[in-house]
Amino acid sequence: MKLNWTPQEEAFRAELRKFLDTVDLGKPPKDKPGRIAWARRWNATLFDNGYAGPGWPEEYGGMALDLRRQVIYHEELTRARVPSHPGTGVGLCGPTIIKYGTPEQRERFLRPMLRSDVVWCQAFSEPGAGSDLQSLTTTARRDGDDYVVNGQKVWNSTADAADMAFALVRTGARDSRQKGISYLLIDMTSPGVTVRPLKDITGGSTFCEIFFDDVRVPVANRIGEENEGWKITRTTLGHERSAGVLTQAAFYRTIVDEIYDLLRERGVTEDSVARDRLAELEVQTRLLQVNAMRILSHIQEYGEPGPIASVSRLINSGFEQRLHEIVLELLGPAGLLDGPDGVQGRRWTYGYLRTRASTIGAGTMEIQRNAVAEQVLGMPFDPAMPPR
Ligand SMILES: Cc1cc2nc3c(=O)[nH]c(=O)nc-3n(C[C@H](O)[C@H](O)[C@H](O)COP(=O)(O)OP(=O)(O)OC[C@H]3O[C@@H](n4cnc5c(N)ncnc54)[C@H](O)[C@@H]3O)c2cc1C
Repeated sequence: MKLNWTPQEEAFRAELRKFLDTVDLGKPPKDKPGRIAWARRWNATLFDNGYAGPGWPEEYGGMALDLRRQVIYHEELTRARVPSHPGTGVGLCGPTIIKYGTPEQRERFLRPMLRSDVVWCQAFSEPGAGSDLQSLTTTARRDGDDYVVNGQKVWNSTADAADMAFALVRTGARDSRQKGISYLLIDMTSPGVTVRPLKDITGGSTFCEIFFDDVRVPVANRIGEENEGWKITRTTLGHERSAGVLTQAAFYRTIVDEIYDLLRERGVTEDSVARDRLAELEVQTRLLQVNAMRILSHIQEYGEPGPIASVSRLINSGFEQRLHEIVLELLGPAGLLDGPDGVQGRRWTYGYLRTRASTIGAGTMEIQRNAVAEQVLGMPFDPAMPPR
């Protein structure tokens, strides 16, 4: 993405690029435990060199970068193709602890999380509570200085590699909905925790089920007050999420350029249907960039990302799916094959299957549309949901 970077910002980019170019990560291991260990090593290296947590405060090992530098940071890491943080702690739970944790909790949890010494998973969804998360039924009963947790979670990314979980549990009455939910940090090695990986459509297993059976969790591991977990779950750190949207625009620019090269090599680009599809891809990619710019200029002018941020998330998840559909259509059967006749080790088939989940995880497409209708367009609340 082209912005008018200041000389100081360009200097920051050059310094970061130099660092990234000097680190030899080796090839990513093929097996999942190996890949997680590889990502952990890389994130520890980033941390030890002062390049971890672009939006985190410096006192917890972060860089405290302003939004424009965060964009540069993510662009450069995307360009270098380094592994991202294993688990979901840094983007979701870290900011919550920074904002609502006690000084002891911040001291105990934040640095090991950022350095990947401790990997975290999110334990929110349940078999009967996904879009309507406020109906969750996993209970935490107070017993002295502990809670005793019972229930089942599902779709928990990286839970089979996680040392800790950040969980939403019911501490209020069964029908208390958002008024009876607390936010607990649960040690995954505690007696009574069982993790069962689930196979997904790609053949791999990115998420799991978690069962809690009389699991004792110290009250000291509760973030915020009892029954006030709901309101703190939505915390993000400053504009880190917006930085994510801006980075995605840069990421997809690179991917779409790679697609053009690939299709040119295979002699597909002269076909008129193919050209039509590629024009569609190009338009969508530029739309992502324009939306990213709109978010950035809104933040610069008003201090917050504005309504376009929710619309962008909706567009981005649909785009990921459309991109893979188009590539597979244009590659034909070769896109599906392994071995010498196949294309790039079935990368695009894998991507096609993987991105089926893009319009489900972190809020389905329908729920996102509801959010845009209600919060951006000011339409009446969804009658299918309980009154807020
Ligand atoms: C790849 C991936 C990773 C995930 N990682 C995690 C994780 O780490 N931790 C975690 O806790 N969860 C995780 N999830 C779970 C995710 O948050 C839920 O799948 C999601 O919230 C949807 O809930 P659900 O699957 O129960 O579907 P449901 O809520 O049962 O929805 C079923 C269908 O009904 C539609 N629907 C429901 N309510 C409405 C409504 N009011 N209006 C219109 N349509 C509606 C939905 O859009 C959907 O099409 C992950 C999911 C995926 C796909």
